[in-house]
Amino acid sequence: MNLNRTLLTTALLTALATTSVFAAHGPSQSGTNDPGTCVNCVATPVDEQEAATLTFMREEEKLARDIYREAAALWTSSLFANIANSEQQHMDAVLKMLSKYGLPDPVATAGDLPGWFSDPELQQLYDDLAKQSANSLMDALLAGALIEEVDIEDNQNALDATDNLDLQQLYGNLLRGSRNHLRAFVGEIERLGVVYEAQHLEQEEVDTIVNSPVERGGSGNRGDSGGNDDNGGNSGSRR
Ligand code: MN
Ligand code: MN
Repeated sequence: MNLNRTLLTTALLTALATTSVFAAHGPSQSGTNDPGTCVNCVATPVDEQEAATLTFMREEEKLARDIYREAAALWTSSLFANIANSEQQHMDAVLKMLSKYGLPDPVATAGDLPGWFSDPELQQLYDDLAKQSANSLMDALLAGALIEEVDIEDNQNALDATDNLDLQQLYGNLLRGSRNHLRAFVGEIERLGVVYEAQHLEQEEVDTIVNSPVERGGSGNRGDSGGNDDNGGNSGSRR
């Protein structure tokens, strides 16, 4: 009798485990977010606004990566390749959260095609900045600094608007990365003799960031520090 009960309990537990695993993975595959079916999930669900912001962030990081990769092919500064690698890590970090919360990846729609975006505003911004970056090294550096200023504002807004701890950590890391990238671009622009003027944020905010030291990644956070993104830019520009 005891044996029967043990077997029955085991069978029930197995069935439950199978069900919850299926439920946890099901939404990912179907591309819908239905945390209600996720029996044993520890993740707190994200609401519609948080999901939309996270989806946008995946492509905003891609815009930075794609622009910097193109600039790396056109211009000699190693800043672009170094920061492009960092943006890939940022893209990966956002994708991890999209997957965790069962949200579809907008980048997968076109197979991560360079210069392609599902968001029309990002597509327009990419087209404009790609054209600008092809003009001169200085134009490419200024495009980079603009991208980082926009990223800082968007990530700060995203951070302020979420109560989800995963997302708060993600946006905090992306913010730190963007501040470091802005420092690197502005440092190179000024090294080349141009006084940098803020393009999107308040001048005061840009000055505060640029005049404060490079920030290291948080403990256990590879997505932001990754080895060469924060300081690689500076060392790369020293020629
Ligand atoms: Mn980034
Ligand atoms: Mn960046």
